[in-house]
Amino acid sequence: MTFNKRTPLVKLNDGYLIPQLGFGVYQIDKKDTVKAVEKAFDCGYKHIDTAKSYGNEKEVGDAIRAQKGHIYVTTKYFNPDTKEHGYEDALAHFEQSYRALGLKHIDLYLIHWPIVKNDGYAAAWKALIELQKSDRVKSIGVSNFTQEHISRIIEETSVVPAVNQIEMHPYFQQEELRAFHKKHDILTEAWSPLGRGKVLDDKVLNDIAKDHHKTAAQIVLRWHMQLGVITFPKSTTPERIEENYAIFDFELSKDEMAAIKALEKGERNGPDPAVYTFPEDLLRKRAASKK
Ligand code: NAD
Repeated sequence: MTFNKRTPLVKLNDGYLIPQLGFGVYQIDKKDTVKAVEKAFDCGYKHIDTAKSYGNEKEVGDAIRAQKGHIYVTTKYFNPDTKEHGYEDALAHFEQSYRALGLKHIDLYLIHWPIVKNDGYAAAWKALIELQKSDRVKSIGVSNFTQEHISRIIEETSVVPAVNQIEMHPYFQQEELRAFHKKHDILTEAWSPLGRGKVLDDKVLNDIAKDHHKTAAQIVLRWHMQLGVITFPKSTTPERIEENYAIFDFELSKDEMAAIKALEKGERNGPDPAVYTFPEDLLRKRAASKK
């Protein structure tokens, strides 16, 4: 078998192509962002996943503009600060993200969280549909949506999101939601693909890693690739950024894929989108940090 040493491109339901492996920049400080993203470009990554709430869109845009070829960029609409989550607010937040990134277009624009208590996500989806009609956004999708949220926006608009970006790693595999995505031709994007590092001491993963002369992180990322999931691990350590991209020169066997499947524990690290208390938590933290 010959291996492509670069990330494959996968086709979204609107026809656009997205590099399957990208680089995530959540919790990367503004001052470290350009350096980390440039390191990712040096390794071959061509896809950056950011969000307005990460506070580093400007730095991501600066690093992308310095590149010659096309870099795929995703950003997200998120507003926990007001009760305005909805149509007008999504348009206003998009303008801010578009200006901060300073790019001709954004490849993929997502609703970051449904924020169910505000009940504005269906209206926000209508705003994203309008935005997609301009040449400033190529593809639109959602993040942290449950089957119920996705069904509602499809029912109200007949527009199917290109992706749903959800928490997913070997201890939280989201099998049911992934099957629902498949049925609707929605691609799954995995956030926290390494379970924020928590899965990396797992014996099964380390045994498989040893057999392939790879690390547990590489095994997990390869597993995501073989499931057809799009993902974007985060790191600011140059060696890890490099390591996380070096997953296209080996393959996991059926038995190894099955052994990883058996690691499911239903262990979520992030908030549950169905109940979703995150905005309050975030506001409380922000208020505390201002004291
Ligand atoms: P992750 O699973 O990518 O884990 C990142 C952590 O794992 C790093 O801090 C690092 O300590 C460790 N790590 C990375 N590579 C390693 C390696 N090779 N060896 C050992 N440890 C390693 O978690 P994440 O940052 O939460 O998620 C990745 C990306 O997903 C984010 O940067 C962001 O772009 C996206 N994300 C989206 C949402 C959402 O709500 N849509 C939420 C969280 C994250």
